[in-house]
Amino acid sequence: MTFVTRFAPSPTGPLHLGHAYSALLAHDMARAAGGRFLLRIEDIDPQRSKPAWEAQLIDDLAWLGIRWDAPPVRQSDRKSAYADALDRLWACDHLYPCTCTRRDIDAALGAPQEGAPHHGPDGPVYPGTCRGRHCGGQRCSTAPRPTDMHLRLDMARSIGAMDDRDGLSRGLTFLETGPDHAGEVFTPEGRYKTEIGDIVLARRDFGTSYHLSVVVDDAAQGITHVTRGADLFEATAIHVLLQRLLGLPTPTYHHHRLIRDDAGKRLAKRDDARALSKYRAEGATPQDIRRMVGLP
Ligand code: GLU
Ligand code: ZN
Repeated sequence: MTFVTRFAPSPTGPLHLGHAYSALLAHDMARAAGGRFLLRIEDIDPQRSKPAWEAQLIDDLAWLGIRWDAPPVRQSDRKSAYADALDRLWACDHLYPCTCTRRDIDAALGAPQEGAPHHGPDGPVYPGTCRGRHCGGQRCSTAPRPTDMHLRLDMARSIGAMDDRDGLSRGLTFLETGPDHAGEVFTPEGRYKTEIGDIVLARRDFGTSYHLSVVVDDAAQGITHVTRGADLFEATAIHVLLQRLLGLPTPTYHHHRLIRDDAGKRLAKRDDARALSKYRAEGATPQDIRRMVGLP
């Protein structure tokens, strides 16, 4: 099997040393394996994504010596693929509409009988307020899929549809090759329900979500190895479930260490101080950047 990996930045700010590490590592891995390296621009959020950031990141990556083996895929061009995936999940009653605001959710979670809310990959686990609320007591799939409300994954129903493992415990596995969790990673059914819960798969304002788009696009681009930061490790259990629900293959995952600033804090988009463009302006070479992030 050929090795196909990708770098998938969001054009919402400058690339910094952490992105350089992620992109260079994926690129090095693809070249070492004689495989392919692809670029995907994750611009589903029209408020935060800017063409100028996209142009800058493409320039920075080319300067680093990174070459992609196909034209970049832009998520804003892929709306119909996300709608198709949502239609399929809707038809199987894996989704339900939700009209909750952040405030409604906080209020429901703050109710004294609820105890401390679990924080999952997307924040506090949704209390389920809208489950069974908007479909008039029918299966939601008996009506067309609404596009003016958020759509949440019915987690108990979705994970419950998976086979149990050797008749023992139900859950899903993926293969990890990164430094922190190398080996088979198993997420049991109970953790899906209590620590992830009914996540939003389609936001009302842009008709998709990070989780849905990344799964649909990794499959469409034929990605065999997902290389990305350890901050996304917890999200992978969600992606594996979506792959199973949509009949898509599960790639191998490699979650790499995060590049931290001098105080040990991980770099964020707003850390413009570590922007690649700043190092470039100061005369750094691509080899200097490799050294700074600990690559040969
Ligand atoms: N677009 C995401 C980010 O910039 C990365 C997505 C991924 O690699 O799965 O953090
Ligand atoms: Zn709701």
